[in-house]
Amino acid sequence: MALSVGCTAKPGKSRGNRTGAWRVFKPAFKHNKCTKCGLCAMVCPEGCIIEQEDEFMIPDYDYCKGCGLCAEECPAEDIEMVKEEK
Ligand code: SF4
Ligand code: SF4
Repeated sequence: MALSVGCTAKPGKSRGNRTGAWRVFKPAFKHNKCTKCGLCAMVCPEGCIIEQEDEFMIPDYDYCKGCGLCAEECPAEDIEMVKEEK
């Protein structure tokens, strides 16, 4: 299908795309120094960081593409990017 200049994708497309399949690094949420501020969930471009019942955050690895933005922005430095093991 030819794409026109300025075309947009239909909403909801990323849910069908398991972007975790092509990840090289993945974020390890250590839950040691986390202050439960929620910033990681706000900056995640995939919207795949979920708050657990204990209010700690965890990524949904099916959709995490390993961009590292959460680790970069975490003010507590509680997220470490580690090499993906396949
Ligand atoms: S940004 Fe860091 S400190 Fe804040 S909720 Fe996420 S992991 Fe915890
Ligand atoms: S590495 Fe990127 S896609 Fe994965 S949880 Fe962090 S911000 Fe989201």
